[in-house]
Amino acid sequence: MAKWVYCFGGGKAEGSAHAPELLGGKGACLAQMCKLKLPVPPGFTITTEAWAWYCSHENSYPEGLRGEVCAALAETGRLAGRHFGSTIHPLLLSVRSGARVSMPGMMDTVLNLGLNDATVRAIASEMGAGFAYDSYRRFIQMYCDVVLGLDCSVFEDILDAAKARRGYNADSEMTADDWKDIVVRYKACVAEEPGQSFPQDPEEQLWGAVGAVFASWMTPRAMMYRRLQSIPEDWGTAVNIQAMVFGNMGNDSATGVAFTRNPSTGEHGLCGEFLVNAQGEDIVAGIRTPQDITESARIHSGSGKPSLERLMPAAFADLQAIAATLEMHYRDVHDLEFTIERGRVWMLQTRKATCTAHAALKIAVEMAEAGLISKEEAVMRIEPALLGQLLHPVLDPQSVRVVIAVGLPASSGVATGEIVFSADEAVAAAAEGRKVILVRAETSPKDIYGMNAAQAVLTTRGGITSHAAVIARGMGKPCVSGAGSVCVIYDDGVMTADGKTFKKGDVITIDGDKGEVMAGEVRLLQPELSGDFVRIMQWSDNIRCMKVRANAETPAEARLARTFGAEGIGLCRTEHMFSDSTCMTAIREVALSGDEPGRRCVLAKLLSVQRAGFIELFEIMKGLPVTIRLFDLPFQEFLHETGMLQDLECRRLAINFPEIVEMQVRAIFEAAIKIAHRAGVTVMPEIMVPGVRNKAELDCVKACIDAVARDVMKETEGRIAYQVGTMIESRREGVIPVEEFAWTADFFLFESHNSAHMALVCNEGRIQKNLKFGVCCESGEESAAISFCKQTGVDYISCAPLRIPIVRLAAAQAMLNMPFSRETGSVNYKNGQQNRSVQKVADDNSDV
Ligand code: ADP
Ligand code: MG
Repeated sequence: MAKWVYCFGGGKAEGSAHAPELLGGKGACLAQMCKLKLPVPPGFTITTEAWAWYCSHENSYPEGLRGEVCAALAETGRLAGRHFGSTIHPLLLSVRSGARVSMPGMMDTVLNLGLNDATVRAIASEMGAGFAYDSYRRFIQMYCDVVLGLDCSVFEDILDAAKARRGYNADSEMTADDWKDIVVRYKACVAEEPGQSFPQDPEEQLWGAVGAVFASWMTPRAMMYRRLQSIPEDWGTAVNIQAMVFGNMGNDSATGVAFTRNPSTGEHGLCGEFLVNAQGEDIVAGIRTPQDITESARIHSGSGKPSLERLMPAAFADLQAIAATLEMHYRDVHDLEFTIERGRVWMLQTRKATCTAHAALKIAVEMAEAGLISKEEAVMRIEPALLGQLLHPVLDPQSVRVVIAVGLPASSGVATGEIVFSADEAVAAAAEGRKVILVRAETSPKDIYGMNAAQAVLTTRGGITSHAAVIARGMGKPCVSGAGSVCVIYDDGVMTADGKTFKKGDVITIDGDKGEVMAGEVRLLQPELSGDFVRIMQWSDNIRCMKVRANAETPAEARLARTFGAEGIGLCRTEHMFSDSTCMTAIREVALSGDEPGRRCVLAKLLSVQRAGFIELFEIMKGLPVTIRLFDLPFQEFLHETGMLQDLECRRLAINFPEIVEMQVRAIFEAAIKIAHRAGVTVMPEIMVPGVRNKAELDCVKACIDAVARDVMKETEGRIAYQVGTMIESRREGVIPVEEFAWTADFFLFESHNSAHMALVCNEGRIQKNLKFGVCCESGEESAAISFCKQTGVDYISCAPLRIPIVRLAAAQAMLNMPFSRETGSVNYKNGQQNRSVQKVADDNSDV
């Protein structure tokens, strides 16, 4: 037989604390707190299954529910020493919603239910008339709002008028007779509504409230919230019915919210706020300023009002003990809602607290070091995307911000620099070592060099998927797009914003997290990877087996990548190494030269630049692998745009101009040998051929690479081991015979993880020979990408340098989420079996 109701209270609970899907989050935590013997007002939970029944049966209740509720009410009353509806010791109830996950403020709660003209008199004689009639008027107001759906602003008007008539400033000046009068007026007000009156029957009140909580799941604001948070519609809500405790019984009573640790700094110890002589919603309503719970927080905030620690030391000590019990049990930082009734603490709710990245790191590390959780758990606790908050320079909070425009936060981070209005200006200024911000109405592929040279990008048109936004995110540069109030006048070399004119060379600051554009320089602080951050990274590195590399071309990017722990460069796009304009001119000349000797002559000039670039990269990377992609699409697009490649088959640069390949490969090997001599660093270049269409083409380019490699080694009498691979671009993957490539290539780099082919190809590739697989990972998609890559047996992930820590963490989490790694326990994931395990999983998933 179905069971619709689960009781809790008196140190016991019927329901399992592990069943939030049945009891809702609040019901499950109330049950758990009872089992932990914490002080929880007794009550019971009507399950989400009852909600589902209600919804599918035209808002009616299942048979048996009323009987179960009646029995549970009797039990609740017994534990509370009261009786629902009694006119001697009436039991008052709160009727609370209870979705599976917290939906703060979205769903409805009714407090003080059970009050009517008769029970209020009993409460008055027991607890004081002022308290009783204040509670009654609160209840009428809440009930009319939540259950009867009336416009409650009239109630506020009535109260304001009454206070004005008597010359009161605050509710606390109201006397018992004043509240009595308010209650009369409220009830009269309800009776004026057609067909409405305030129900006196407690039973009727209760079922009205239950129905209202069920129905509150479908209010437009709750539906909108669920859409934004991706909460399924069919989860539904439970209803918690609980004996009231009163924080509004005088100056030895209070209500408050606390955290077991500080959710923004992570600092160990209780913190939070409370209000004396108040009931639940008063804190959220913000009518009165809450007081600090601890004395240290009070001193810190400079508040003149006493802390709970000083005001009610016994209650404070109880609360601290409760917080410790909760942390021991949940082994995580929790928030808690509590009420103090005449000095006695009652727990009303607890759940996992939402913390900043900084706090989350600190708490996870401290808990692991205290032995409360394992290191693996600490690693699992951190949301990888959250780390992004800690990886960009930040605006100095002490600096003044003069915001001149607001656009879309298109790419995260902040930057200060001089305004430039074209890519060429950006490149020229950067070559002189000046920091610039590229300001355009919008950007196109020919602005890439300029974007690369700039600190940040500002566009007046375009959304967060515009060219500027997408490229900036890929480059890890701050970008504000679509700042419509900024007007760029290219001809005059100025922009206007906020009624002011800014010339080329004027300094502005961009906040890509807020979408703000500010006049002048705002001081930046470099992000500090704190001790906790470093610890989590170390633990992650011990767990993961997938390598993490960076997409990097410039020395600055390579250095940043190393600082953040990159284990190599996964993608060095050689066309990005030529940002300076003399080089661009040389490249143009190559393409324009009608004959091979002419091209070779120009290429000889490029060789030294290219070689110098590689020497620098190899030196920084200190022997870690570097995957170098020969000139690719943007380069060809660039030539195409300038009308130079129109009559050529655009995609096959390497085939049409083998001398370009020869120049690049020569530069790579000469650089590798130079570094081996100079710094004793052994480099193993991985040369990647883009844009080939079949095995014959790949073979042709590889032959060219092998020949140059042989030549250089002979000339220098050096030896360099190297690999040749290719890029699998998602837009062409259906067309190209990837399996065939496997015979020529040593490695594949997938352009993105969204490759339908990938699982299949990885499998094939491994069966044919020990091919290595890398994947380029889009910013923001790390977690999804990595767990997919993990399953398909990818060897390394390559990402923007700033995202490296995020990927290191996500790779460790993917490892911990793998079924086989859970079986091996928490010891050593980096064992010799690892590849075979990966292979096995790849086999198991070959049908995905
Ligand atoms: P929400 O889901 O919006 O947090 P709650 O069900 O927690 O709603 O109720 C809101 C507030 O009402 C609580 O924070 C608490 O202060 C008060 N409240 C709820 N139940 C009781 C109760 N049994 N006794 C006293 N106050 C209560
Ligand atoms: Mg709550």
